[in-house]
Order: sequence, then C-alpha cells, then structure tokens
Amino acid sequence: QDQANAGEKKVIVMGTNAEFPPFEYREGDKVVGFDVEIAKKVAEKLDAELKIEDMLFDGLIPALEAGKIDFIAAGMSVTEERKKNVDFSNGYYEASQVIIVTADNETIKGPEDLKNKKIGVQLGTTGDMEAQNIEGAEVVQFNAGFAAIMDLQNGKVDAVILDSEPAKNFASQNNQIKILDVELTKEEYAIAVKKGNTELVNAINAVLEELKTSEYDRLVQKYFTA
Ligand code: GLN
Repeated sequence: QDQANAGEKKVIVMGTNAEFPPFEYREGDKVVGFDVEIAKKVAEKLDAELKIEDMLFDGLIPALEAGKIDFIAAGMSVTEERKKNVDFSNGYYEASQVIIVTADNETIKGPEDLKNKKIGVQLGTTGDMEAQNIEGAEVVQFNAGFAAIMDLQNGKVDAVILDSEPAKNFASQNNQIKILDVELTKEEYAIAVKKGNTELVNAINAVLEELKTSEYDRLVQKYFTA
C-alpha cells in the first residue's frame, strides 16, 4: 500500500474562474491563461500534479477555506477585507478597474456620469465593490464579465465596470464597445492560500521571484492585448 502511494505524485488544486481573459479562460475544455502558467510552475516546484477547479468567482474563498482547493489564481486583487480570510502571495500584476460603455455612448465620459445609472459587474469582484459606492447606481451582478458586456450591448445596463486587462481583451474583439480612459482603482493581483499555509505561499513567492528575472515578459507578450 505504502509503496504504491510512494510512486504517486501529490496533487495540488488551483481554484479559478475561467471567465477572465487573458488570466484564465477556456480553450476547448481546457483552462488556459497567464495564471495557469504561474500555477504550472508552482506545481513543478512542488513536484506535484496540477488540477484546476473552475468555479464562480464568488465561491473561491469559501472553497479555499473549506480545503477544496489549495490556492486561488484568478486575477484576484489584494484587499484588506479578503486578507481577513486568506493569505496572499506577493503581487504579480498591477491592475485597475475601468468603465466600459457602448461605442456610440456620448453621455458617460467618466465616473461622475455613473451616478443613478445601471452598472453591470462581475459578482463579488472589486469592480462590484467599486460600483456599490457610486451614488444612486443600480448594480447588476453577473457571473461573468462577458455576460455583463452582452447586456451592455442589449441596452440592459448603461455601463460595465471590469478589470483593465479583460476589458481590453473583450474590446479588442468587439467594436460595439469602448473603454473610457480613466482608472477607477489601483489594485494588485496575488495568489491566495488558506490562512497559515506558509509552506505553499513561500513556494509561490519563490516562483514569482524566478519569473520576474526570466519569463515574465515573454508571458505578458504571449497573453496580453497590446
Ligand atoms: N480583480 C478582481 C477581483 O479581485 C476581479 C477578478 C476576477 O473577476 N477574476 O475582484
């Protein structure tokens, strides 16, 4: 029994929400993206096999706390609130929230024009929190940023607040929408582990450190919209 197990690789489980290009998205039935590349390197470092669990963004922290996943790699921004429930690695990407409107929209030019408007967001994200702070706004929560953009085009919401890179990604394939040239926030993405899992967070930080000196730029070029 023991001998049989000794030959088996341990499994490490990444939790993500594969609705967030270029960090994680589906290619056929596979989840790929920038975060997956980092996760693969973490697995390699630990000599483990990587398994990916794709779930709602909103369910990631509960899944981590319940031990269903070992870490979250999901373009997750570090926030004080989340730090109460998880430990974060060092940051690996600086991001911001941006406003998306339809290409022909002439009235929403900046955050001040969002008051009393209907705003689409992805449930449980920092964009969601940002929208909740806008005076009089009706916040419509979607399970995926892409769904929010569909409803923007259908006229069901007036604007969408989303992370900058996925926004650029969607806009590059869709000339019906545009991104306003304003950054609503400054955020940093990091990988989350269960509180107290220092061994894993140290391994992740080591991988991030190695990446900075070598492959980071290549990965940015491979995955990011110019
Ligand atoms: N960066 C945002 C957050 O942490 C959105 C992440 C996502 O939708 N995957 O809330």
